[in-house]
Amino acid sequence: MGPVTVPSWASSDAARRSMQSNRSRDTAPELALRHHLHARRLRYRVAYPPIPSLRRTADIAFTRARVAVFVDGCFWHGCPEHYRAPTLNAEYWAPKVARNQARDTDTTAQLRAAGWTVLRYWEHEDPWTVADMVEAVVRGKADLRRTAQPDRISIRCPGG
Ligand SMILES: [Zn+2]
Repeated sequence: MGPVTVPSWASSDAARRSMQSNRSRDTAPELALRHHLHARRLRYRVAYPPIPSLRRTADIAFTRARVAVFVDGCFWHGCPEHYRAPTLNAEYWAPKVARNQARDTDTTAQLRAAGWTVLRYWEHEDPWTVADMVEAVVRGKADLRRTAQPDRISIRCPGG
């Protein structure tokens, strides 16, 4: 495999940083969400494996409420709004993103089967709004609805 050219859209430092690691910890969007959750006095675990034998870690987990939160990078996880298949080294990137998406769907299914509520957000989503939704779910005040995407759910919050 030759040198990998970073796609042209990844021109910002943040985008480059987020691409350096597939499932990186402590990304800026994740830190912002954690900050807002902390401000709401919610107690959570970071990089927590809900099913230890599965060896997949939720970015944020509420163990008592059994809620697992993932903040997915727009590039690595194929965000429908921001992912554009790179023209350079497409044969390198495309299978990686496809594998990640398949694993995300599988992780969600396995955690749900084990009784966890799985919440997936894109890194581009507003962390304040996401924190509102996570708080409502953790406190048992949200109305969860299935969406067309099998590993995502929409959430109706009181007053939202
Ligand atoms: Zn996105």
